[in-house]
Amino acid sequence: PEAITVAELANRMAERVADVVKSLMQMGVMATQNQTIDADTAELIIEEFGHKVTRVSDADVEQVIEQVEDSEDDLKPRPPVVTIMGHVDHGKTSLLDAIRNTKVVTGEAGGITQHIGAYQVTTDSGAVLSFLDTPGHAAFTSMRSRGAQVTDIVVLVVAADDAVMPQTVEAISHAKAAGVPMIVAINKIDKPAANPTKVRTDLLQHEVVVEQMSGDVQDVEVSAHTGQGLDELLEAIALQAEILELKANPDRPAQAAVIEAKLDVGRGPVATVLVQNGTLRQGDIFVVGEQWGKVRAMENDRGERVKEAGPSVPVEVLGLNGTPEAGDVLNVTSTEAQAREIAEYRAQVAKDKRAAAGAATTLDQLMQKA
Ligand code: GDP
Ligand code: MG
Repeated sequence: PEAITVAELANRMAERVADVVKSLMQMGVMATQNQTIDADTAELIIEEFGHKVTRVSDADVEQVIEQVEDSEDDLKPRPPVVTIMGHVDHGKTSLLDAIRNTKVVTGEAGGITQHIGAYQVTTDSGAVLSFLDTPGHAAFTSMRSRGAQVTDIVVLVVAADDAVMPQTVEAISHAKAAGVPMIVAINKIDKPAANPTKVRTDLLQHEVVVEQMSGDVQDVEVSAHTGQGLDELLEAIALQAEILELKANPDRPAQAAVIEAKLDVGRGPVATVLVQNGTLRQGDIFVVGEQWGKVRAMENDRGERVKEAGPSVPVEVLGLNGTPEAGDVLNVTSTEAQAREIAEYRAQVAKDKRAAAGAATTLDQLMQKA
């Protein structure tokens, strides 16, 4: 155990708090139930009550969440996860909206309202594609640095009346660093000043050779305003996905990545996750970053309640004990104790790191003064 409150220690041992407090007193430690005692004291108490001390380690965490390698037979095709990137004002949001509006089936009255930061569409040829709404460039890299690589395909939006700009270049380098294939959407083709050829030649300077330039990066002329080229863009994505042969095993405990998370006043912590492997089900117990929980309810991208979510499906999850961070990875565990222990262990490791960083700074400051 790490530093732990008296109440939590009692809870974990399934002993009465009063008995633990009494035991502590006999050891000369005065502590009320909400006070924290150090790991060594906790260990003495645990032994005193005749329980076994188990220290969680990195290895334990890995063992619990390390997933068995899926055999080739278990793997089924999964939809690609697509992120739209590009320079500001080149039409990322407009394009996402246009795709959503043309392709998402509107069952409910009032049309489509955006529920969560990701959505799925079905192309005319029947391919399912998952789009991430959120990641701008910073989100893309910070998610990657937290261990979640959620994007399979980057759609690079370049405005035909503006061509390659600094954030276009940045997006190209992010996609390349992540090893994610790109498709170029030459947007605003409806504008009189549109010059798609300039976009294509500009891109050459950045080692992006589109098909029209005899390269292998697909390029599609689109207009988020008129809808021109949108179907073609979606089919280009579907084709790229086919080449990637994306697969996952739906028949295993889920692993998912947090796309966004917030503390909702009415509903508590909520996280939008994208399932990466396995199937996430209502009732599943999980650890996610330094938090844990049990799936109380799930909603899909149309705000409908769902009982399960398979690979590449985005869902909003209720039932967390705290708010995780975008990029945190969710793993289903078999017991609540496991989930809780891993979450607490990670929180402790993070805390120790911060403390160490703090100590280092103080030492630095001292050295500088001396
Ligand atoms: P973002 O910053 O990349 O998300 O760009 P937005 O989607 O906010 O679009 C920036 C501006 O370009 C807005 O005024 C849009 O209405 C406009 N815009 C986006 N796509 C098109 C397009 O295909 N044609 C035209 N004419 N304007 C567009
Ligand atoms: Mg935008």
